[in-house]
Amino acid sequence: MNKVESGHQVQHNSLEQKNYSMSEKLEFSKQDRWEGTQLTEIVEELKLTADTVAKEPREYIIKGEVTAANLYELTLLPFEISIDENNGRLVLGTGLDTSAAHDWNFEAKRRPERAKVSFHTHPVIDGVAVNTPSLNDLYIQLTRAHNNLNTSIIGTQDGLLVFTYYLDSADSVATQTAEYKKMSSAVDEMQSLQKKLYAHQINFAEAVLQQRKLFEESGLLVFEARWDESEKIEKVLDMFR
Ligand SMILES: [Zn+2]
Repeated sequence: MNKVESGHQVQHNSLEQKNYSMSEKLEFSKQDRWEGTQLTEIVEELKLTADTVAKEPREYIIKGEVTAANLYELTLLPFEISIDENNGRLVLGTGLDTSAAHDWNFEAKRRPERAKVSFHTHPVIDGVAVNTPSLNDLYIQLTRAHNNLNTSIIGTQDGLLVFTYYLDSADSVATQTAEYKKMSSAVDEMQSLQKKLYAHQINFAEAVLQQRKLFEESGLLVFEARWDESEKIEKVLDMFR
């Protein structure tokens, strides 16, 4: 009899424990941060606090739709913005003027490697619109390709551009080798451009111009949409849905 009673007691206690933790969880779920924030709201907040955000990175979960107007506004901010899929949610992070994530923020830096959609902005730097991927963007896409993620998206004040590099194991070795050569020669050329830039043999505007040219010639650019080309923009927005 004693045994049964004590057994009952234990069960009762553990149920109480469960009820208690469930109500705690409900309290948490009431908070907006778990639900995410509308992109329009995020954009407004970033615009108002741009000076602070440039020094202290922020991250948000996006609730609802990603619109062209929102993405365009993000390209006007003085630092890079990334939007990456993570566990089925879109996570927006703020970076620096030439990097989508702060150096010490490893989680943010590595988020694009496995994101089903990976987007980041290139702000205008010293009056130059950086309408081309950087060397680092190519490295990231190389890693994405190993995770069967074929494209990356860049937003600039001119529009959206989609570039690709992927490995298809169904392709012949010859095709795969040709694809790899496309990427590796683009990487080589970008490395030598960067060296010239650091050695002050060319200025930033020239470097971007040459980078864009070799990027176009590389065959890595697959799609480009100016902000006024709404049908083409929609195609890119579909990648976020
Ligand atoms: Zn970039």
